[in-house]
Amino acid sequence: MPLRSSKVPVVGPRFLPAAFCMASPSGVVAAGQPPFVAAARSELASELGAHEEAWLSQPENLAVFAMQSGSNAERAQMLSDMLRWRILHRERLSSLTCTHCAADPRSHDCRIFGTDADGDAVIMNGMALPKELSPAGVEEHMTCVFELALRRFPGTAARPRQFTWVVDIHGFGYLSRHSDPRTSLRLLSLLRNGYKVEWSMAA
Ligand SMILES: [Zn+2]
Repeated sequence: MPLRSSKVPVVGPRFLPAAFCMASPSGVVAAGQPPFVAAARSELASELGAHEEAWLSQPENLAVFAMQSGSNAERAQMLSDMLRWRILHRERLSSLTCTHCAADPRSHDCRIFGTDADGDAVIMNGMALPKELSPAGVEEHMTCVFELALRRFPGTAARPRQFTWVVDIHGFGYLSRHSDPRTSLRLLSLLRNGYKVEWSMAA
């Protein structure tokens, strides 16, 4: 029984500055890029690889930063932080394979079920089903799920990308095998660093 459904806007381009559409044939954002993108590039310099360049070449991935209130320096810091997270997790974001589920498909339960009526990815997990509950393992699995969801159902310039996340809490209990607080902390860190989100609770 799904008891909670959360709509999770991830990247929200209400508008796209023309500079976002100036990707070069190599996938590298060309000259004319917004100042905060140039600043983040300058800060990270040689740390950026082909994986991050491909991500930067997608306008919808940058639009959320342009929408943020604050200075260009603050936007650049946010973008740098996210890029550092993507560099740190480059291998996982490239393979999109959870090593636990590769070894045993019943290790984790959270999966993508398709889309809702708005065309947003529907993610669901049941608390009673996973066999593997290590904080690192859950984080690894959820990284793959979030990234795959965004790739399969990307947003548009007119509408932000969102998740509908349904959690069946049957089998959940703080005194049971779900009691390690590091798992929640890792998931919060994952959402904050890897996927800029704003939560709005539905029924
Ligand atoms: Zn897994």
